[in-house]
Amino acid sequence: MKPYQTTLLSSLLITSLSACQTQVKTSPTTDVVKLQQAALSSQLGYDLVESLTVEVGPRLAGSPKDIIAVNWAMNKLTSLGFDRVYKEPVQVPIWERGEANARIIAPVEQPLVITALGGSIATPSSGIQAQIARFDSLEALQQARPEMVEGKIAFIDQKTERHITGEGYGKSVGGRSKGAVVAAQKGAVAIVIRSIGTDHDRMAHTGVMRYQDGVPQIPAAAMSNPDADLVNALLKRDPNAILELYMSPKNLGFNTSYNVIAEVTGSSKPNEIVLISAHLDSWDEGTGAIDDGAGVAIVTAAAKHIQDLPIKPARTVRVVLYAAEEIGLMGGKAYAKAHKAELPLHYIAAESDFGAGRIYQIDTKVNESAFAAVQKALSPMSFNGVVLGNNQASGGPDVSMLPALGVPVASLRQDGHDYFDYHHTPNDTLDKIDPAALAQNVAAYAQFAYIMANSTTTLTPLIVSSTK
Ligand SMILES: [Zn+2]
Repeated sequence: MKPYQTTLLSSLLITSLSACQTQVKTSPTTDVVKLQQAALSSQLGYDLVESLTVEVGPRLAGSPKDIIAVNWAMNKLTSLGFDRVYKEPVQVPIWERGEANARIIAPVEQPLVITALGGSIATPSSGIQAQIARFDSLEALQQARPEMVEGKIAFIDQKTERHITGEGYGKSVGGRSKGAVVAAQKGAVAIVIRSIGTDHDRMAHTGVMRYQDGVPQIPAAAMSNPDADLVNALLKRDPNAILELYMSPKNLGFNTSYNVIAEVTGSSKPNEIVLISAHLDSWDEGTGAIDDGAGVAIVTAAAKHIQDLPIKPARTVRVVLYAAEEIGLMGGKAYAKAHKAELPLHYIAAESDFGAGRIYQIDTKVNESAFAAVQKALSPMSFNGVVLGNNQASGGPDVSMLPALGVPVASLRQDGHDYFDYHHTPNDTLDKIDPAALAQNVAAYAQFAYIMANSTTTLTPLIVSSTK
């Protein structure tokens, strides 16, 4: 091609491109491709999770660090130039971890690595010394005769299975959340569980536990997986082995935390909302990188790429960074309550709360009559490695209550094969995040939010059958 031809062609292209830009709206498909390119070539997601984990770090709900995290989020979202940034109060309990020590004192002395479960009471200052009543699962404890448990430390020794979906967690986590109540009902003096985790590190996994009115409160802890193996092997040699437990956590009333919210205002349906979310709080032992700094970074960066488009999508894209997910979905519940009147205007909602592994599938929970149209609309996500899945999504913990309130949800499924190696441990740190995988997540959330914010399919209200 001769130089003048190049010039001619260029000027023709420029003329036709500018004509397109001035006279014709940018094609949504083009924008979906552009969003993917922008996200995959951007550092923003990683910069955000690095900033949160380095400049704030652990941020247990109700602690002074929680408020520092809220201020971090307000400043960060404001500096990114979103159309609106605001926060809404959430009442959260204050729990301090204190110390947690355990050792076998007979027939042989063996120190053990444990951690207190979130919400647990302390042991007496002299500790607890008792025999161990071991069970394969929460169900086995539930079926045990009280005389097997009375006066002993209950030990639920259930292994968590590794799955890409994380489904092993759902099978074992009941022992953590409900074990103390069941054990106390049978007269146990404390409960220790095998960590709900898939690793073999000598590190225990914390997580929230619950008490029940009318049932005595007993101390509750998790033991590292290698220590659970050790105790199990010791009990085979001596069923009367004695465990000593000392814990000093404190429950200290309530504090005010906040859901932090940012919006890209919709161009033609600004009152309708596509909600993408994550939780800002974390456990106190790691720096909250995969749980859930990654989610905070993914949804914030995704919305920022939409904010930067020359033409905004029809609906408002709302980013919600929830308070106090870890200790009982308190931010999610507070949001659903505070926005009750506005929920019919929520077109669809999703939460990123499963680390930073690549998204391989998108599932939805929409009315069956709309499912085919939604799948068709979402099909450009396949260029980012995301296949179209089923219509049985729950949407993530903080939005899990929304389907019953008529709001459709989506679950962007991540590769979580190693998520429960690090979850709720001191090992939840930034080095576990692959920047390229994080950027793929940002691209997927940006595409999802953009497509849904422009969708012409009627989705609301979601009709959920009460039998499901
Ligand atoms: Zn989480």
